[in-house]
Amino acid sequence: MRVHNFNAGPAVLPLEVLEEAKAALVDTNGTGMSILEWSHRSKEYDAVRFGAEADLRELLGLPAGDSWKVLFLQGGASLQFAQVPLNFASRERPGGYVLTGAWADKALKEAEVLHAGKCLWSGKADGFKRIPKAAEWQVTPELAYAHITTNNTIYGTQWAALPDTGAVPLVADMSSDILSAPCDARRCSLIYAGAQKNLGPSGVTVVIIRSDLLERGNKGLNSMLDYGVHAKADGIYNTHPTFAVWLMGRVLAWIKRSGGVVAMQAANQRKAALLYAEIDRTGFWQGHAEVASRSKMNVVFRARGSALNHARESALDDAFLSGARERHLVGLEGHRSVGGVRASLYNALPLASVEALVAWMREFEAARG
Ligand SMILES: *Cc1c(COP(=O)(O)O)cnc(C)c1O
Repeated sequence: MRVHNFNAGPAVLPLEVLEEAKAALVDTNGTGMSILEWSHRSKEYDAVRFGAEADLRELLGLPAGDSWKVLFLQGGASLQFAQVPLNFASRERPGGYVLTGAWADKALKEAEVLHAGKCLWSGKADGFKRIPKAAEWQVTPELAYAHITTNNTIYGTQWAALPDTGAVPLVADMSSDILSAPCDARRCSLIYAGAQKNLGPSGVTVVIIRSDLLERGNKGLNSMLDYGVHAKADGIYNTHPTFAVWLMGRVLAWIKRSGGVVAMQAANQRKAALLYAEIDRTGFWQGHAEVASRSKMNVVFRARGSALNHARESALDDAFLSGARERHLVGLEGHRSVGGVRASLYNALPLASVEALVAWMREFEAARG
């Protein structure tokens, strides 16, 4: 039996893709070997990685060719927090960071280790409830780049559109909303995303860099940390996480045959609208994010009256969560720093899972409200 999987990451994957993996595991593509046993230098694996890259470019609206480099790296988005400033920032030319959540905060801290980070705006004091308006922060010409987190997985806020940073390169951590809707990826100079939320399993991190930024990268870095080394090696400097890349490729193919990012957006909007409508219906529940900043990927809420940041002590939220587990609604516990309830509604989560969640919310409110 499949549960309703609201995990924040690693997260739900399309059942069709899991079935494909099961069927392919022992003998992949008639090679008499498993993908787990292929060489990462084989022509079979080249077809897998170049296929995934081509689909990713198509879905993001990026052209084929050399103007963009696509890398499949390891170390998660967390390594990118360090690798981005190592490659592009310095004391004289720091990276600017918009602090909309805990992941952005961690990214800035890694830049600060190099004395190369500057905070451009912070929502920390009021609990990371919103995305700043354009007038609330600005970029200055000395910045090496401006860094944003397009979707704040823990607090459930999301940028409605990419900001305009003029001549300052835009760097975006898209870990938790990449390919959830059409986006003007060409406006970014660097995009990174751990695969385990919207793209596939954990173990691979997608990094996409504009070649003009790449050419200006800092010199003298250790090879594995130098984007230029990975790019020059045609994206395969060392052993890839081959199975993770293969599975991500199957997820990308699933997105394409499901109607692409436009279809993902329509489905994601429907799921989020259904859940937010229930949160707002009577006042029994309270959403964490300000309405204009609400995320369509991670919906964070609690029973009204349970104190902010102390929801772990809220008997009501706890009763809701344990009832949810009994109903096979899994992974709804809020992040330990926020408490309450968090429902992650990534691309692969079916509408039926949100319907089941909303049904339990109504039943719970009728009994306890
Ligand atoms: C999950 C997440 C991360 C951390 O990813 P790891 O792969 O665990 O390093 C970073 N940024 C965002 C926005 C995330 O959702």
